[in-house]
Amino acid sequence: MAGCAIVGINWGDEGKGRMVDLLTEDYDVVIRYQGGGNAGHTVINDKGKFALHLLPSGIFRDGVVNILGNGVALDPENLWNEIQQVASQGVPVTPENLKISDRASLLLPWHRDMDELEEKRLADKKFGSTKQGIAPFYSDKYQKKTVLAGELFYPEHLKEHLHDLMEWKNLTLTKVYGAEPYTWEMLEKWLNDYCEKIKPYVCDTGLFLKDADKAGKKLLFEAQLGSLRDLDYGIHPYTTSSNTTAAYAPIGSGYPGAKIDRVLGIVKAYSTCVGEGPFVSEMFGKEADDLREAGGEYGAKTGRPRRVGALDIVATSYGIEAQAATEIAITKLDVLSTMEKIPVCTAYMVDGKKVTRFPFPTALKDATPVIEYFDGWMTDISNVREWDKLPKAAQDYILFIEKAVGCHISYVSVGPERESIILRSKEL
Ligand code: GDP
Repeated sequence: MAGCAIVGINWGDEGKGRMVDLLTEDYDVVIRYQGGGNAGHTVINDKGKFALHLLPSGIFRDGVVNILGNGVALDPENLWNEIQQVASQGVPVTPENLKISDRASLLLPWHRDMDELEEKRLADKKFGSTKQGIAPFYSDKYQKKTVLAGELFYPEHLKEHLHDLMEWKNLTLTKVYGAEPYTWEMLEKWLNDYCEKIKPYVCDTGLFLKDADKAGKKLLFEAQLGSLRDLDYGIHPYTTSSNTTAAYAPIGSGYPGAKIDRVLGIVKAYSTCVGEGPFVSEMFGKEADDLREAGGEYGAKTGRPRRVGALDIVATSYGIEAQAATEIAITKLDVLSTMEKIPVCTAYMVDGKKVTRFPFPTALKDATPVIEYFDGWMTDISNVREWDKLPKAAQDYILFIEKAVGCHISYVSVGPERESIILRSKEL
């Protein structure tokens, strides 16, 4: 049985969680395969309003099994806090509906310190990290200097392993950054307070997925962030430290043989970007402030105001290519309902030449946007549920995007609630 990946096409925050929550109706297993608790998905459904960071967005559906794959940055502290938060809102998280890969590496307590210390050292050259320890975690993972969740089942071995890692990391903390060293007591507390709590969820998820696939179960792979933040294909070095693309899903899920025939790319009706780095279609001043307010564009994890801009056809086309998206969902179309004229970036000017191919990252800082304006519809569309009922100007906007990026738009989202969606068939 082939699977589906739900991925971000731009900088993240496109509304992936909202689409996963909607589509899980048709899937049996939801798998987070990369990234950590450094971004957030906001999901609003019949059970309430939730801010998820690491938990897969299928957690709200009865009968759906959620998996945190080996590719994620597994932060026991954040995960345990999140499990308790969601449970306190009436959604039980048990070893039946959440399974953690025994091959997932643990984000260790010093990864957050390292993130903070390095951003401080960089001062005005900082990357705008969310300081959740993600970059230090992945660097250490590739150096084989973290522990796997499955090691929790081997306490004697784990103790020795963690001791060795602490000794090694204390050298950097004290000698490079002049920070306080970690002690074994601190690690023991961390093991007792958080790792022991998540241990019942840890198992061989690769086997679970293989069996589920064999039994004809439908698998949904959920990504974090978007194409432009992908470690290999994004805007280097302003990327995250993992692969946000659908192609990584089989590896990061724990089921390398997974076949994915449906890649649903999520595109916001305008652009947003959290953190530093080139953002060619960025808007400033009152126009930007109004859009930020209308869209509630403040970081789910940090509360930071997001940078906002016009929908960027150049970046979006590239993002679709990087994801090999087979279809698209446009989200937050309702947010544009008060704009008389809607700007769209249709090309870049680079060295006096008009280009439509997304440039090499270093060239991006000198690119300027070519902006075209579309008529707004100036009416509330949040209650529209059928394509034919959308105002013509809104239809024209969607049809223009579809043609410009060359990928079918199968969903148009007009509100954050599960049901605020317009389905478009391929024939339209
Ligand atoms: P994700 O990380 O890609 O899941 O995206 P976020 O959850 O960070 O950001 C999307 C935000 O937009 C959330 O607050 C959603 O509740 C909200 N949202 C999603 N779709 C829509 C929509 O169509 N209209 C409006 N107004 N809000 C939406």
